[in-house]
Amino acid sequence: MAIYDPKSLKAEEFINDGEIRATLEYAEANKNNVELIDAILEKARPKKTETGCVCSGLTHREASVLLACDIPEKVEEIYKIAEEIKLAFYGNRIVIFAPLYLSNYCVNGCVYCPYHAKNKRIPRKKLTQEEVKAEVIALQDMGHKRLAIEAGEDPVNNPIEYILDCIKTIYSVNHKNGAIRRVNVNIAATTVENYRKLKEAGIGTYILFQETYHKESYLKLHPTGPKHDYDYHTEAMDRAMQGGIDDVGLGVLFGLELYKYEFAGLIMHAEHLEAVHGVGPHTISVPRIKRADDIDPTAFDNSISDEIFAKITACIRLAVPYTGMIISTRETEEVRSKLLRLGISQVSGGSRTSVGGYTQQERPHDTEQFDVSDQRTLDEVVHWLMKNGHIPSFCTACYREGRTGDRFMSLCKSGQILNCCHPNALMTLSEYLVDYASAETKETGFKMIKDELLRIPKDKVRAIAEQNIDDIKNSNRRDFRF
Ligand code: SAM
Repeated sequence: MAIYDPKSLKAEEFINDGEIRATLEYAEANKNNVELIDAILEKARPKKTETGCVCSGLTHREASVLLACDIPEKVEEIYKIAEEIKLAFYGNRIVIFAPLYLSNYCVNGCVYCPYHAKNKRIPRKKLTQEEVKAEVIALQDMGHKRLAIEAGEDPVNNPIEYILDCIKTIYSVNHKNGAIRRVNVNIAATTVENYRKLKEAGIGTYILFQETYHKESYLKLHPTGPKHDYDYHTEAMDRAMQGGIDDVGLGVLFGLELYKYEFAGLIMHAEHLEAVHGVGPHTISVPRIKRADDIDPTAFDNSISDEIFAKITACIRLAVPYTGMIISTRETEEVRSKLLRLGISQVSGGSRTSVGGYTQQERPHDTEQFDVSDQRTLDEVVHWLMKNGHIPSFCTACYREGRTGDRFMSLCKSGQILNCCHPNALMTLSEYLVDYASAETKETGFKMIKDELLRIPKDKVRAIAEQNIDDIKNSNRRDFRF
């Protein structure tokens, strides 16, 4: 039997079934232990320092106790601390991105995904470089600056060279004042050599969802294709780090397995990255399984309620305080509104989950990966964020200034990231408002910017930000950043 070791590079040792089961027993035994719960909450709370704020995070055992706890006032406390942590390290900014589907060719047999190889009902499509360019222009015309590219796994149709060509094309397009300044990549687990190539191509975060940490279920849910190899998939982030990618994004597809098991596995994965590479996950995504062609989510009997989903999100925020947290348009406006108060720092907007979807007038469904619940336009999403007190940010400065991996984390930990992120958010929002926004969004936005500029503590930084925003309004000068 494998022994738990967070520093091991073997999947079964750092995501250890025995340790997860022991954690769940410990959590169940202590879910009403008020003294312990209070101590864990106290540990999770952000602490003020001379330079900003620090947060210790929680171990997978501590965080699992909070997730198991059903005492209403303690759950409220979890939510309160989650919001405090979010505000302490990310302020009221919410980073915006869109997915770009390159190809739905796939050789895997993932039973929850409509792109599975045996699905003959959907047309297979792969964008040519000309089509990639057209999609990018459509995305730039909406106002997007940050993309997450998505593709099925198919060594013949979507080899790494194809993905690299697409990245090159995406970065090369400058339509009007538009530019894609950060490309995150969500493609199947691959080799160290290929991760190195992705790094050299200038990607931002490498994202790979674990889907489930439960090995036995994983093998059943991925019956055929290279993705069947649980160890290879689970160890992918270590290979990515070896290939030089220091920003990696974790995620679980909630609904496939019991959420408490998944949660403990996810936190253990974060602990493992920190223990081995000295830097935790750059982001954690919380997707839930959705209806799609050939896929009925009710066939998966571990679906979770909105309430549990909120609690999971808040507990992740407490356990891994410095990670960015992402919620996609799989979720409705209502759910997204609630989760934004519990630690989410990035949202997608105006998304199309079909191959070539952005260049079509009507939302196409034939090659869609899953139903999109939040179908609002990017302008509507930007407006809604501001109405709810969040600053929509199109900033991509950190990674372009080399603030990645442990550099980003140490800045984040010292609270310093707020000194440049806040003005950067205001400047990139100004770009959006001038170049793409509707009249109503523009009015709301510039009102918000005026108030927010007053919150910049350093006079010099405020003066530069004000000057840059004037330049954005009065010229075609763009891409200012601290
Ligand atoms: N092919 C890549 C891989 O194997 O990891 C990733 C790209 S896939 C387009 C992105 C993610 O969509 C998957 O990792 C999975 O978690 C999610 N997904 C697949 N089917 C889904 C469904 N029916 N509802 C919600 N999300 C789904």
